Amino acid sequence: MALYPHAIQKPIRYFTTRMTPVRMNLHIAVSEQASLYGFFNKPSFVCSHFYVRRDGQVEQYVDTAYKAAADYQGNSSTISIETQGMADGEWTSQQLNSMAALFAWARDAHGLANKLATNSQPNGDSSHGLSWHRLGIDGNFPASGILAGRLQLGGGLLYSPSRGKVCPTSQRILQISQILSLSNGGNIPVYTGTPDNGSSYAATGKLDVDGVWGPNTTRSLEHAFGTPEDGVISAQYVNSAIKAIIGVDYGPRKKGGSTLVKAMQAWLGVSQDGWLGPITITALQNRLGTPADGFISTGGSTMVTRMQERLNAGTLLK
Ligand SMILES: [Zn+2]
Repeated sequence: MALYPHAIQKPIRYFTTRMTPVRMNLHIAVSEQASLYGFFNKPSFVCSHFYVRRDGQVEQYVDTAYKAAADYQGNSSTISIETQGMADGEWTSQQLNSMAALFAWARDAHGLANKLATNSQPNGDSSHGLSWHRLGIDGNFPASGILAGRLQLGGGLLYSPSRGKVCPTSQRILQISQILSLSNGGNIPVYTGTPDNGSSYAATGKLDVDGVWGPNTTRSLEHAFGTPEDGVISAQYVNSAIKAIIGVDYGPRKKGGSTLVKAMQAWLGVSQDGWLGPITITALQNRLGTPADGFISTGGSTMVTRMQERLNAGTLLK
């Protein structure tokens, strides 16, 4: 479970295969959209872990403990960052800062090497660290130096099947060493223009009543039930009843479930297996007096709204 704390979380639910990342690949979206969520949110489609807007705002679509789909043969070992902009142009200073902050975070979260990759070779560590799409793209690129591509660098993982793809463009590749320096400079400015998923919870202990069950709603539940407060629902199996919850750690089934869920199940009078599925969600809906369809709606659930109101009032268990 690895969510970047300064991102707006917009989870896309099709990515449930665990991975151990060794590099962070930078891309250019060739798009001016403010978000790629609507574009990516389809089954069997491409998707990056992050999107960085021109103004530096970061969206996270896939937990970095799980494989996304932006780097082809590199998917099972790569964190991917798409960025706003067209083929012409450079990354803005806000984008450079946001990518530096993301790389510093990924070093802490996943132990990524603090260096630039020099190719896409799967053996050894030359492809580890801060990397970019062209290192795994075949094409007519400069024969040597930082602008070279996979063929010039002696082969390795293909990060795209498309020959000659320009991503992330030569102008931007020349900015990447600057991202590495910024990431080691400390006090990297992060985007603060948009409220971050109810971040006032840390200060006030009150949830935003928005019907979206994210890490703070989980923390508030953990507080109410007296279980460890980490904001994560651990050891769950993938099921549609809980796909709307942000911050679920999916592990192998039969791994014991979540302590919080067991406490909730004891309160609800259902079997205490620790797994949040349709039976527990139906019981929760019945207890809160909202329509009992055994499924949490995305984009704002009536049941979650009622639960947040009672958590804020301290009356959930009364
Ligand atoms: Zn790319």
